[in-house]
Amino acid sequence: MNAQAKVTADHLRKQAILYVRQSTLHQVKENRESTALQYDLRHQAQELGWNDKQTVVIDEDLGHSGATAMDRSGFQRLVAEVSLGRVGLVMGLSVSRLARNNADWHRLLEICALTGTLIVDEDGIYDPNHFNDRLILGLKGTMSEAELHMLRARLIGGLLNKARRGELWVRPLTGYVYDERQRFVMDPDAQIQGAVRLLFETFRRTGSAGQVVKHFSEHSILWPCRLFEGKRDGKVVYRKLQRGMVLNILHNPRYAGAFVYGRTRTRKGPDGKPHVRSLARDHWQVFLPNAHPGYISWEEYEINQARLLQNGHSEGRDSPGPVREGSALLQGLVVCGRCGLRMTVRYRVLKGRRTSSYVCARRGIETGGPMCQFVVGAGVDEAVGQAAVEAVTPAALDVTLQVFEELRARRADVDRLRRAQVQRAREEVELAQRQYMLARPENRLVVDTLERQWNDCMAKLAQADAEYARAAKADGALEPSSEAMERIATLASDFPRVWKDPRTSARDRKRMLRLLIDDVTLTRSEELIHVHIRWKGGATTSLELQRPRSNFELVRTPATVIEEIRALATEQTDDQIAHTLNSRGYRSGTGKSFTGPRVNHLRIDYGIEGYRLNLLRSGWLMLPDIAREIGVHPQTARTYAKKGLLHAIRINGKDLLFKTAAVPLPHAEHSSNGE
Ligand SMILES: [Zn+2]
Repeated sequence: MNAQAKVTADHLRKQAILYVRQSTLHQVKENRESTALQYDLRHQAQELGWNDKQTVVIDEDLGHSGATAMDRSGFQRLVAEVSLGRVGLVMGLSVSRLARNNADWHRLLEICALTGTLIVDEDGIYDPNHFNDRLILGLKGTMSEAELHMLRARLIGGLLNKARRGELWVRPLTGYVYDERQRFVMDPDAQIQGAVRLLFETFRRTGSAGQVVKHFSEHSILWPCRLFEGKRDGKVVYRKLQRGMVLNILHNPRYAGAFVYGRTRTRKGPDGKPHVRSLARDHWQVFLPNAHPGYISWEEYEINQARLLQNGHSEGRDSPGPVREGSALLQGLVVCGRCGLRMTVRYRVLKGRRTSSYVCARRGIETGGPMCQFVVGAGVDEAVGQAAVEAVTPAALDVTLQVFEELRARRADVDRLRRAQVQRAREEVELAQRQYMLARPENRLVVDTLERQWNDCMAKLAQADAEYARAAKADGALEPSSEAMERIATLASDFPRVWKDPRTSARDRKRMLRLLIDDVTLTRSEELIHVHIRWKGGATTSLELQRPRSNFELVRTPATVIEEIRALATEQTDDQIAHTLNSRGYRSGTGKSFTGPRVNHLRIDYGIEGYRLNLLRSGWLMLPDIAREIGVHPQTARTYAKKGLLHAIRINGKDLLFKTAAVPLPHAEHSSNGE
């Protein structure tokens, strides 16, 4: 997967095209930054060896929608240039979005493969002639189309309707509970109410979230949290208040008595990563002020927001960051189930093997406390990978397609209603027309009035017609073509194939996971690891894994064995120690029997000197040294040993140590007379 290796002199002779596409005028306005990112790719081309003159920018499509290539001369120009074999490299951000229509995309891939054109996006460089590159590019295209059409549609519907009525059940915040009629009311516990009020008062006084934390900690006041799950449902636990929690509370409009929903929008940026953006209040999906009792007034809420903005605190969310090298598949996707912060990957080399674990250390860093939790990576990676493969099985995709069918059925109902409206308008036109026709021409006043009515009805009909057409078109845009459905179905066989292919690199597997998964929450308990996968589009999967013992625990050899080795090492070689340990019935930390090399590893780990070193210390010499000592050639010394003039001893089957025969051996059974 070496980028430079894919670029040949032939590629460099041709031009590099940077294709800049942003679909709507709105995006053009909003995403100046991403345009800048796209232009950054130019520098990447230069790094790969193209000079500035060879780099052509096509950005004619700015402001056009990407649904088809029909009205996009820029895309067609790109295809034309590539098919003429004039292009060595095509660059774009999330290249699959070059053409939102998959047919266009696959045609471009085909042509790139035929003309040997490379493709670059922010993830890396692809050669469409390479088996895996091609599959990944294809997947990227299909996924981006599937996502465009459907994955997003799932959450919408019931959830939003419930939210509109202010009824959506959300885990109550500290300070609130649901009463027996499922109304959101203040927590009757005076201590909890007091804590919430103290938080707001302290902020009112100090104007800083950090000061609030300090105040609570200086006075040893803990923050109450009600549990809402399991056996301890309803119980209150107390924990240390943290800055992130304070910020969340200050930003939450529910404390001002308002029910809100849809305050943020998660949108895939042109770079393919989800961006959570806070929306202005006018754009919140649901905003019901005075929905329940508040701890502060709405005015105070707004003052607090302004203050926080001044302090420079945003919502305090962190982003997954770019795909990095390394084998931990969930890098950038893991969220800590205990504190909600993003977990980082820690690599370690143990016994020559690179192992990874996910750690939540940030809170520890912020508050100076211990690490929040860590989870050994291997088992989790495997389980999530398996879940991903299962998520893209024909059965799972069928479910998704069924959701579509349902949406389609619901749309049919809506369509009937809309059509009925048009029909009513049409009937009114006919009625007005008949009345006008029946009126006596000599009665001018009546005729004029009837004519005006007829005209009004005609205008209303035209309006209803236009409205109907507009609505139908909007619905149609959501409808996946049968071709798209088919491609989604083939995804089911492609995805597991690429996933299981040993040629697929860890980096590519990570990219594939990111196409499917928003984030993975890990919570480690005594025995289990709870894995909660949030898929793109809102579906979730929960898994429970047996907690593997940590690397340290896994390889830990019982202390008694180490002591045995320490004792034996003064008079036995590693092989002999292994034999002795086995004959005494000892087993390693992993339950295996001992071998010479395994004993050797343990000795090195625990800093135990070996038999050889012990012998050297007690006067035994290596071949060159003994030769020098007795003043002969090393070969002669060897011959002496064979003849029994020198004592010689073999260590671990290779090293020979010598001693003049006059000195008695420490242990007769370990000596042998050379070769
Ligand atoms: Zn944590």
